[in-house]
Amino acid sequence: MIHKIVVASTNEGKVKEVKGVLDTLKDLEFEIESLRDYDIVEPDEPYNNFMENAVHKAKYYAQHTRQLTLSDDSGLCIQALGDFPGVRTKDLVEECGTLSKAFSKLESMAAAYFNCAMVLYIPEKDSLITCEARMQGTITFPQKGEQGFGFDPIFMPEGFDQTLAELGASFKNKISHRSKALRGLVEKLRVGF
Ligand code: IMP
Repeated sequence: MIHKIVVASTNEGKVKEVKGVLDTLKDLEFEIESLRDYDIVEPDEPYNNFMENAVHKAKYYAQHTRQLTLSDDSGLCIQALGDFPGVRTKDLVEECGTLSKAFSKLESMAAAYFNCAMVLYIPEKDSLITCEARMQGTITFPQKGEQGFGFDPIFMPEGFDQTLAELGASFKNKISHRSKALRGLVEKLRVGF
């Protein structure tokens, strides 16, 4: 059976990554739609943790799409700074105007992790499938690499000496917070469907 899933994010970098992972899951047939097919005002992110925000976004978008709707909430957490900016990563980037201004508030070679809460909302059952995952690494300056999005040029995953923006999309999709959360969620979906 083919399931229609709306990948509900306005961040094209995220959408690309999610589609990249779903495309590798050959045994589950998904027809993937993006928000380009809908005209929906972006929701707020009112909560102080990733999972509540991801649930909020998935339910909000599903009210409009009436389809299986996949949303994530993610961010960069610098451990020495009490996981700052964490759930407020997007706000920091918006406040600073550019990524390079946001970078100046961060610490070089500091231990950090990306966190991702991934949620699939199933409107007809009013039910949720969720999974949360991390990718550990360090912040590094100067920024390097052209690929990916957001903080990828300043994040070196643990065990590697290149940034995510240098390592590239297919590599990132093997180890990233987002791909781990999505694969975990799909495992739960396999059992439930
Ligand atoms: P939100 O999930 O829409 O709240 O946005 C989180 C923000 O965290 C993004 O806009 C990026 O700046 C950053 N971010 C989240 N995941 C990644 C990633 O995989 N690479 C680089 N930056 C990321």
